[in-house]
Amino acid sequence: MKQILITGGAGFLGSHLSERLLNEGNHILCVDNFYTGTKKNVAHLIGHPYFELIRHDVTFPLYVEADEIYNLACPASPVHYQFDPVQTTKTSVHGAINMLGLAKRLKAKILQASTSEVYGDPEVHPQPEEYWGKVNPIGIRSCYDEGKRCAETLFFDYWRQHNLEIKVVRIFNTYGPRMHPNDGRVVSNFIVQALKGENITIYGDGSQTRSFCFVDDLITAMIRMMSTASEITGPVNIGNPGEFTMLELAKKIIELTGSRSSLVYQSLPSDDPRQRKPDITLAREKLGWEPKVHLEEGLVKTIKYFKTLIL
Ligand code: NAD
Ligand code: UDP
Ligand code: UDP
Repeated sequence: MKQILITGGAGFLGSHLSERLLNEGNHILCVDNFYTGTKKNVAHLIGHPYFELIRHDVTFPLYVEADEIYNLACPASPVHYQFDPVQTTKTSVHGAINMLGLAKRLKAKILQASTSEVYGDPEVHPQPEEYWGKVNPIGIRSCYDEGKRCAETLFFDYWRQHNLEIKVVRIFNTYGPRMHPNDGRVVSNFIVQALKGENITIYGDGSQTRSFCFVDDLITAMIRMMSTASEITGPVNIGNPGEFTMLELAKKIIELTGSRSSLVYQSLPSDDPRQRKPDITLAREKLGWEPKVHLEEGLVKTIKYFKTLIL
């Protein structure tokens, strides 16, 4: 039985990862300060003899034992990460240093949940891992983008300098049950608005694109990445290459919910990337992975979840 530490384990992705790894017969140490995550996300796991929940902020040192560490702690939606931008950078940077220090002491494998945001507003489309990105260092998204870029730097320096076994995945927009209903992300916003019969808020003209991966597919890829041979460090893109405009997404959600909501246009937030789509050649090759769940199928499951919250 492996002892697996998951930081940010009570968040959207962390709770799915905790559940999957627990069901696969591992001992899970779920660490979270409940900044954007909630105990409710893991309530069904509490009481399991091999599940432990620890309230802890990763910007402070942590002394526990583990064979593997998944570092997910960090608010992920623009609304949440811009609420306290200094804390966001601290979480990414100090959090990475502490978890890398922990991994170094334990000689444990450590995986970083990085992001497509390291590509910023990309000039190369779709984005392969070799692309260095186009990121504004002083804008409102920088606390997240640069924090995550610095965390990647730290991972690769601990690898070069201390020979740590690292795994870096760059996650593209992911959605599914347990997304926070008020996190302002486009999938949760549109579904909640559609279910409540409120106006659907399109930022800008809605022609910007994103690629959406269903959470179950993403968790499979993360676990596969952790189990790769030690020379595979990444970064590896994980996401669904299907690309949609925000207008297409809104129309699909209106259709699937049978909603009468209308579209309203609001101003585009600054530094909002125009387009985003992963090149997943490397994930296919190194992880033998590609997403299986189509957008419509994933949206139906996500809508079902939000109905339990709202109706
Ligand atoms: P989330 O906000 O639901 O989860 C983040 C979790 O980290 C929350 O439970 C939060 O309470 C916890 N946390 C925040 N700061 C902390 C701190 N200082 N100490 C301890 N815990 C802390 O977001 P998510 O969508 O589940 O994202 C998880 C990870 O995946 C993040 O690192 C995020 O950057 C990355 N990611 C997510 C997406 C996506 O589309 N969901 C895309 C790219 C990258
Ligand atoms: N650290 C931790 N848990 C451990 C070991 C280290 O939280 O089990 C933290 C510790 O606070 C340290 C950071 O990780 O500041 C980096 O550790 P490292 O050993 O790389 O550096 P140093 O201790 O020399 O600063
Ligand atoms: N967006 C939108 N309406 C909303 C929320 C978001 O049109 O109610 C847009 C947003 O401007 C961005 C895209 O949807 O272009 C994805 O936004 P999200 O915050 O989900 O993720 P990110 O921008 O970090 O990829």
